[in-house]
Amino acid sequence: MNARPPGGGQQREADLARTIGLALGGIAIGAALFQHGINSVWWLGLLALHMLVWPQIARARVARSASPAAAELGNLHIDAALCGWWLPAMGFNPLPAALLVTALSANNLAVGGARQLGSGLAALAAGAVLGCATFGMGFEPLVTLPTLLACLPLLVACPLYIGSIPQRLSHRLQLQQQVLERSEQLHRTTLDAMQAGIVLYDAQDRLVMCNRDFRELYGPISATFEPGVSFEALLWRAVNAGLIPEAEGREAAWVAERLQAHVEPHAPVLRELPGGQWRRIVERRLPDGSLLAFSTDVTELVMRERELERIVGERDEYARAVKEANDQLARLSETDALTGIANRRQFDRRLSEEIRRAQRHQTPLALVMIDVDHFKRYNDLHGHPAGDRCLREIATILRQCTQRAADLAARYGGEEFALLLPHTGLAEAYAIAKRCAEAVARAGLPHGDSPDSAIVTLSMGLSVARPDQPQHDAEALLHEADHALYMAKKGGRNRIEPSSAGAPGLIPREMA
Ligand code: GH3
Ligand code: MG
Ligand code: MG
Repeated sequence: MNARPPGGGQQREADLARTIGLALGGIAIGAALFQHGINSVWWLGLLALHMLVWPQIARARVARSASPAAAELGNLHIDAALCGWWLPAMGFNPLPAALLVTALSANNLAVGGARQLGSGLAALAAGAVLGCATFGMGFEPLVTLPTLLACLPLLVACPLYIGSIPQRLSHRLQLQQQVLERSEQLHRTTLDAMQAGIVLYDAQDRLVMCNRDFRELYGPISATFEPGVSFEALLWRAVNAGLIPEAEGREAAWVAERLQAHVEPHAPVLRELPGGQWRRIVERRLPDGSLLAFSTDVTELVMRERELERIVGERDEYARAVKEANDQLARLSETDALTGIANRRQFDRRLSEEIRRAQRHQTPLALVMIDVDHFKRYNDLHGHPAGDRCLREIATILRQCTQRAADLAARYGGEEFALLLPHTGLAEAYAIAKRCAEAVARAGLPHGDSPDSAIVTLSMGLSVARPDQPQHDAEALLHEADHALYMAKKGGRNRIEPSSAGAPGLIPREMA
């Protein structure tokens, strides 16, 4: 007889119970066999074999089985069938038969419940049928004194064994409870030792457990983190205790959003906690509907990221300042300090750009070279600072006369200026040059020492690029304009002279 099928110590107990139970049962069966006249040495030898060998086989079956519990249940069936086989041999002698059936049934019931009891009785009946086939269907209603005496050990042992079952079960339960508690303690210690907050909610969003790190995170209210508290209640406690800076001023909306995100969490959440701590929270719904949340301290990471952002911001700001300074420098390096209009450097750059553009797009490009007449005399009479002021006024007028975005009025050097006029043919360039000359005349800057005029005048030489001729480059254009200017000076000054190399058909009539 034994109480439970599982292996280890319990199986040793089961083996011992089977060995003792069969030894005691064997004495009772043997006496009953004698009483019924089945007393040949063969049957008694077979009974001895059953008593001594079967327990060893049963033990080996369990030891070799992949499922010891199932093997032991099978052994109980075999126990019942074998004993059932002996019942007809004893002529169903009431006392040993009742004792055997009671002992086997009690054991089956204790080990496997009503189901095992039923199948055990069926196995016993099957064994009895086989026994009837072997020994015939005799009946021995009387119990002789020797049979009664032989049954006594089993009669005493059987209730004792049955009586001990609840005690042994409760002892086993106690042991299991201790194992469970130790395992729980181990889990708790492990969870508490983790450098991450762990919290578990059940499918109804009620707190199941949380570890030390999580409690520490919500220090002031952590005492209220009792299992069974709803997630919403916890949120409100944290909000009301001022532990959620981002919820300030919109508490209800924050709680509503948090509850919503809690239903089906997906993306990890980054949250700031009081004391400047940052936590990354990952929530996962488990298949049973419960929710497991991990939160890890990412303060250092966030701080580093912020520092990086600050450095990048500073670098961008610095790069902007450098670019601005460079732009300013570039503007200054291409601006004439005295007059504020483009200087020679800018003029040279623009001239080569515009020549290339004119050739690429086959568009006209006009150049007007301007020289102030008798300026040395002006300086000599009025002084150099007055000469500077005069140059500034002329530069302002030239700039005002060339207002298209692409036009450029530049100081070429000394008292010489240049107008670069993209998309401009000879006639139009002449008109612009004339406008400039008239504007200077209107300004009426008194000269005082010019043999030709009472006011300051300009001489201009005009040339137009011929984009269809690649050899007609910037140098050629300049040379032609210079030559035209020379011709204007030679022709008596205060005039506009187109280059003789220009297209004659485009020269205005009054210039021809
Ligand atoms: P022309 O009609 O033949 O051009 O006679 P000009 O006197 O203007 O010619 P010249 O080239 O002999 O003299 C140019 C003068 O321009 C000489 C110089 O004193 C003056 N000049 C050149 N640059 C500046 C400047 O930046 N400021 C002042 N005030 N005068 C300058
Ligand atoms: Mg000059
Ligand atoms: Mg001059």
